[in-house]
This record gives sequence, structure tokens and C-alpha cells, in this order.
Amino acid sequence: MKQEKSKELYEKAYELMPGGVNSPVRAFRSVGGTPLFIQKAKGARITDVDGNEFIDFVGSWGPAILGHARDEVVEAVTKACEYGLTFGAPTENEVVLADLIRELMPSMEMLRLVSSGTEAVMSAIRVARGYTKKDKIIKFRGCYHGHSDGLLVKAGSAVISNTVPDSAGVPRSYTDNTLVADYNNITSVENLFEQYKGQIAAVIVEPVAANMGVVLPKPGFLEALRIITRESESLLIFDEVITGFRVALGGAAEYFKIQPDLIVLGKIVGGGMPIGAYGGRREIMQMIAPLGDVYQAGTLSGNPIATSAGITTLSILKNNPRIYQELEKKALLLKEAFQPGVEAGVIRVNQIGSLQSAFFTNAEVCDFESALTSDTKKYAEFFHYMLEHGVYIAPAQFEAIFLSDAHTEEDIRYTAEIVREYFTRCR
Ligand SMILES: *Cc1c(COP(=O)(O)O)cnc(C)c1O
Repeated sequence: MKQEKSKELYEKAYELMPGGVNSPVRAFRSVGGTPLFIQKAKGARITDVDGNEFIDFVGSWGPAILGHARDEVVEAVTKACEYGLTFGAPTENEVVLADLIRELMPSMEMLRLVSSGTEAVMSAIRVARGYTKKDKIIKFRGCYHGHSDGLLVKAGSAVISNTVPDSAGVPRSYTDNTLVADYNNITSVENLFEQYKGQIAAVIVEPVAANMGVVLPKPGFLEALRIITRESESLLIFDEVITGFRVALGGAAEYFKIQPDLIVLGKIVGGGMPIGAYGGRREIMQMIAPLGDVYQAGTLSGNPIATSAGITTLSILKNNPRIYQELEKKALLLKEAFQPGVEAGVIRVNQIGSLQSAFFTNAEVCDFESALTSDTKKYAEFFHYMLEHGVYIAPAQFEAIFLSDAHTEEDIRYTAEIVREYFTRCR
């Protein structure tokens, strides 16, 4: 595979940006080799600056559920640009998008648009604390909620792959109020509620964890979180930055039929442009300025370009329920291809809808500890094999394979064949 241009750019980038990238996982640290510099992407195909084309299963880490540069989305964005890029004043687009979000996620009675998932989580935690007048939050080992100070504790995603367990530069006092429980382990949550009685503002969870690889909630786990938070006058926050509009149109809240107090969105909600959103019960959201005394603001929040991409993306999803059925079908087809590896005891596959991960372990993966039994060297080998065969999957074990509406059955069959070949060899 020719990589001259990527190599050249990487060298230059390395001098300009830490690790040559603007977000760590892009640097290929956990798989080795030169990161691909992308020139363009359309549908399910991504092309690098050396002209190599791949079937893409990263999908910009989630937003591209319709595939890249969907015509309708590009048209909407182009049209919006002609009217101006940002005004710092209310627009109709914000109202339309907020209304659409609430229609699809009825527990978001009121919401705020921000510019990233990190910002949305940070703000949701602030309002949870303002509302409950309590300080502590519980998060789960291996769940990732963006890079705000208080949440960089036992976080997933690139934080694991780079083997930086916690971040330097975060004062101890910033994380003193962050308590950590084990995913799928309700006893660990009960213990914290017992130990910190009356002090816990909220439990924040990825309802399907997707930043330690895909880990499904065990039956009853999310329900138990709903009960314990209600009994303790704490809030339940679903971080649906990945699951929102993906595991179902109404996200995990709809899929698992649970009503959290607050939901956090990102990725798909911006249709490829930078947006985050958080919202929930009206009485909680009314705590936010200018109505209440919880402050949160943003110069580019709800900007007209990003909202036009979001509106178009969500409208397409809403008007085409077939998308979710087809995603499921394609996902199962791909999952099936891993079977030789599963039978050989080399991997375990977790899948829900268009999200799946193949962990290089023979342990059942149900939490952070079991995810970490994965052999990341073997993953790296698999990654490069796929790349050589024209398939771009996440350059790190602890991420998801993202399917999109743009993947054709033929794309999936081709990919499945490569996967099956690879794992048939390791018998
Ligand atoms: C990606 C992600 C975030 C952070 O969103 P950014 O837009 O990258 O700031 C938060 N939570 C989850 C579950 C995510 O996957």
C-alpha cells in the first residue's frame, strides 16, 4: 500500500501538533504504522491522500450513520452557508432541531444545544449538581464521557489505548467528587450509595458501553440504576453520545424502555458537524441560565450550519424506519463472519444493532476488567490485515465497528469474506 503522502504529512504534522493529531486515537499508537491522512469520503468509502480507498467502519467514530457526505445533508449545509455561518442570536433551525430531538426522545422535555459531546456531558453534570444540591457523581470504569477534568477517571476510548489511566494536569481536587463503580455490577453502585449517603448528585452511564469496545448492559442493570437513583434522590444520566439515534431512533432510552432524568447527545445529532445536546426533565433544565442560576453558554452553540446537518440527518432517520432493520441485518451478516475466530477461542463478539466489537480474548466481555483481557497485539495484526485488504476499522481494540446505511450488502459480504479468511487461518 502506497503511503508516501500520508507519511510526509504525518512528519510535518508531528512537528506542529502533539503526536501529529488533534485527537489521540487518530495517531495509530495502539496498532502502529502511519495514520492515514484522509482526503475525502463518500457513502461507505473513505479515500486517503495517497489514493487508497477503503470500506470505512469507523464512520468518524459514530456520526456517519447515513454514510459520509450524504447528498441531502451536503445540500442542506451548502444552502445554510449561503445565509451566513453564525449569528450569535436565535435561529429557526435551533427550534426545529430541538423539536425533532424531543419528538424522538420524549424524556428530553427541554434541552440545550452545545458544540461537542464533552461540553454536553460537562453541562449535564453541572445542572445535575445544581438541581440536587449534591456534589458527587458515579461513573463506571471503562465508560468515556469526553475529556472534561472531573470525568477523566478510569475512562475508556483512547485513554485506555494510550495506557494513560488518568490524565496529568487534572488536580486531585477536581476528581474527588467522582466515584467509580463497575459496569454491570449493581452491588458496586449500591456500596457507593451506602458509603456516600445523601451526597450523590447523579449516576452517569453509557447505556451501552462503546468506549471499552462494545459492552452490553446485562438485563436488569439499567433498571436497577433507575431504581437506586430514584430512591436516593439522585439523577440518572444516560450518555447517549454514541447510542442516541443508533441503537434505535429513540436511542437506548427507547431500546431499553427506561426514562433517565437527563440524556446527553453528540455525534449523530450533528450529522457530521460539531454539535452536542443535553436535556431532560423540565424542572431540572429550568435551573439553567437565564431561567436559573446554573450557568452554561456558547458562542457557536446551535449554530445554523451544524443544526442544518443535524435536522437533515435526524429527518432521514425518522422517515426511513427500514434503516434500522437493514442495519441490524448487515450487522448480523458481519458478526457471523467472526464465527471461525469465536470457535477457535480467539475472539468474543459483542453486538447490538449497528455497533459491534470483536475482542481478542476468550473471556466473556461484560465490564472493563474483562475487556482488558484482550490481546491488543493480535488486534493490531488484524487491523493491518484488514487495512491491506481495503477495509478501515478502528485503529484500536477498545472501539466499535460502526455500520452505516451507506454500507451495501455487497460491502458487508466482501468484508465478511476477509474477516472469515483471517480467522480461518488462526484455527
Ligand atoms: C465521543 C463521546 C463523548 C465525547 O464527545 P466529543 O464530541 O468527542 O467531545 C462523550 N461520551 C461518549 C459516550 C462518547 O462516545
